[in-house]
Amino acid sequence: MRHSSADILIIGGGIVGASIAWHLAARGAGRVRVLERAALPAAGSTGAATGGFRAQYGTAINVQLSLLSLAQLESFANVHGVDPEYHPVGYLFMARTAPVLQTLRDALQVQHQAGYTDGHEVSTDDIRRLSPSVDAAQFIGGVFARRDGYINPRALLNGLMQSATRAGVRFSWNSQCTAIERRADRVTAVVTGTERIPCDVVINAAGPWAATVGALAGVVVPVVPRRRHVAITVPSSVLPAHTPMTVDTDNGFHLRVRGDRVLLISPHDPLPLDPYDTSVDPAWLGELHAQAGRVVPALRDVPLDIASCWTGLYENSPDGHLLFGACDGTTNFLLANGSSGHGVMHAPAIGMLMAELVCDGQARTLDMSSLAPDRFGRGGEVVGVGLL
Ligand SMILES: Cc1cc2nc3c(=O)[nH]c(=O)nc-3n(C[C@H](O)[C@H](O)[C@H](O)COP(=O)(O)OP(=O)(O)OC[C@H]3O[C@@H](n4cnc5c(N)ncnc54)[C@H](O)[C@@H]3O)c2cc1C
Repeated sequence: MRHSSADILIIGGGIVGASIAWHLAARGAGRVRVLERAALPAAGSTGAATGGFRAQYGTAINVQLSLLSLAQLESFANVHGVDPEYHPVGYLFMARTAPVLQTLRDALQVQHQAGYTDGHEVSTDDIRRLSPSVDAAQFIGGVFARRDGYINPRALLNGLMQSATRAGVRFSWNSQCTAIERRADRVTAVVTGTERIPCDVVINAAGPWAATVGALAGVVVPVVPRRRHVAITVPSSVLPAHTPMTVDTDNGFHLRVRGDRVLLISPHDPLPLDPYDTSVDPAWLGELHAQAGRVVPALRDVPLDIASCWTGLYENSPDGHLLFGACDGTTNFLLANGSSGHGVMHAPAIGMLMAELVCDGQARTLDMSSLAPDRFGRGGEVVGVGLL
């Protein structure tokens, strides 16, 4: 077994790990190394993400994380030399029922108070104008924000990895963390199949596998994987390219246009016996297609490209929000987990805030105390107005 050392070890080379690595390197935080068990980048959730970006949330903390990310997205191409393909075509949340419309109105208030003022209420006629193929008569109204839209997860990952590498970060592929050594309240070294690496700080950025990595350090990380399908149609011109992310809020079904195809997603995927199972369920793809046809009747005549449909894993926390920082009394094992399906869009912010925590002793740009990993079980869950 080889012996090497690092100041800061990041376990997981997805978008969250890459963003943390870049921000630490930009702060001159010391020798930063990323351990990734896969042979190539984007092997986890990041490679499965559909690339939605929004600041329309029902909690101030998620709105603020999005705004911090948005500021980085706007300068990303200049800083990293890679276009993140941020297209602000908007998110359109549509309501079928009065209680859901009220939830959306409550969320607007949260957003406005948190500094995101783009969102506004829309009528059924506005829905017809914004997303013309939708059967708008089913909806009583909704909300829309123009600066929401799309980003390219792989482009973001590439940009962050390239900048981090140029700044001295070492990415180690085929490097699965198999054990974490600790002494009293501190972790002291990380072990892979071939190396033992003493280090000062370890950051868990293992996405849906965060609990498994936490267990290696004796830390309980309440993150569970949740399979999510993405159904994709064959090429078609049914929906124009500038169609906003269109969300049937009563049931969570949503669709977006990517190139000349339409992506169909729902949060109610059937759960497999093995939570890490990412096989595609053809029956569920059929259900997604049926749901799409109910919202956009013209999609009934546009078949799915079954061979191109995919699945990935969300990394869900009990309240649907990030776990950020140390927990279980372990002072130098830091969590950046549990974004619950928002990790790509929040990764730029998470990276910056984690670098502040490591370098300055606390996140300075945003008060992250509400996202302390030990908030559960002591009544500290983040509670919003119902729009996760
Ligand atoms: C279908 C789908 C659609 C999504 N759409 C969006 C979206 O529109 N917008 C958005 O913001 N988010 C979206 N998400 C969520 C987003 O993909 C995740 O929040 C984000 O990718 C999490 O990033 P991560 O770096 O934490 O995790 P990952 O990308 O999963 O990275 C974790 C890495 O850790 C590695 N790893 C695990 N265990 C070990 C170990 N023991 N040793 C070394 N390495 C290890 C894994 O191989 C993996 O590469 C979507 C997710 C899915 C599944």
